[in-house]
Amino acid sequence: MTSAEPVLPRIRPEIAALPPYRQGRPADPDGYKLSSNENPFEPLPGVVEAARAAVDFNRYPDATAASLREALGARHGVSPEAVLIGAGSVSLLQAFIQAAATVGDEVVYSWRSFEAYPSLVLVAGASGVQVPGLPDGRHDLDAMAAAVTPRTRVVLLCTPNNPTGPVITRAEFADFVAKVPADVLILLDEAYAEFVRSTATGTAAPVNGLADRVYEAHPNVVVLRTFSKAYGLAALRVGYAIGHPRVLDGGRSTVTPLSVTASAVAAAVASLAHQAELDERVDEIVARRTTLVAGLREIGWDVPDAQGNFVWLPASPHVDSTSVAEAFDAAGIIVRPFPEGVRISIGEHESVEKVLGIARSVVPSLPSV
Ligand SMILES: *Cc1c(COP(=O)(O)O)cnc(C)c1O
Repeated sequence: MTSAEPVLPRIRPEIAALPPYRQGRPADPDGYKLSSNENPFEPLPGVVEAARAAVDFNRYPDATAASLREALGARHGVSPEAVLIGAGSVSLLQAFIQAAATVGDEVVYSWRSFEAYPSLVLVAGASGVQVPGLPDGRHDLDAMAAAVTPRTRVVLLCTPNNPTGPVITRAEFADFVAKVPADVLILLDEAYAEFVRSTATGTAAPVNGLADRVYEAHPNVVVLRTFSKAYGLAALRVGYAIGHPRVLDGGRSTVTPLSVTASAVAAAVASLAHQAELDERVDEIVARRTTLVAGLREIGWDVPDAQGNFVWLPASPHVDSTSVAEAFDAAGIIVRPFPEGVRISIGEHESVEKVLGIARSVVPSLPSV
């Protein structure tokens, strides 16, 4: 018997069944790509020069990225030993999930949340336990705490939640951490922390403000941050974890060694030297977000609290995500549809009015308008 098909090596069936990663397509020259929560601004001053100066390409980078851990330690008021650098925070998420959970273990997270979570859990061989989010886009923390079993090894919390937008408050977080056994790893994914603007004080304030040193009281909590969003370094792949040094050891052992390049470290260190400029552009993105949310609500969209660099248009029996995304697409704006709604990133200044115009045109199909 002859066959044209070669015999291929066997892949774990659950891996073979995964759809390969598909990147959002680029926008037309006169359109806007608002599908990946990227930053519309160019790198901060001195960043390109710093990356360009890191030219010892024949040498491996500093495996511990000491210069960046030192700068981040100073920035967050922790020792450099409490900081671990990775090639994007997704690589750290993967490292910590793998360090703590394997076959037979459970990883609890809210859903809909960050689209990488299900496959990261699956790659570790663990079972994902998806807890439906609340109608207003927040995590259902009571249900998540109730979903923790003796098999739970990791809980993923995303604040602000990608793609819906709301944050977890200090009171909610304190209450949740108290309910979860101290030997369960809690990964607090704060990829959008810099964009949070809440006027609330005390326990109603978002958790982000105090998350830096949260591991001192709760060694089972590891905070994850990234340079991909507010800092606009998505192409360079650099993120970091803050946590108890001995807990970070787990991630250190599982993350791919030497995967953070010297150029990325140099760019990140240079970025940290420009806090004022960073604040300015983050403020500008927040101002665009405020305009967009107000405009969308005025039109009749039920937009949840938006605390990241994106807004969420929930789907309803009358409005399906695919048609909404197609309407934007036809007008040259790429957005990200999910079954439960459509996520639109805050992009260029001119994109804001354009988004509102298209959102208005979809309105006739909205229920109460
Ligand atoms: C973008 C994002 C990340 C980080 O991505 P990296 O580019 O790998 O740092 C992590 N978590 C969430 C929820 C995100 O949206």
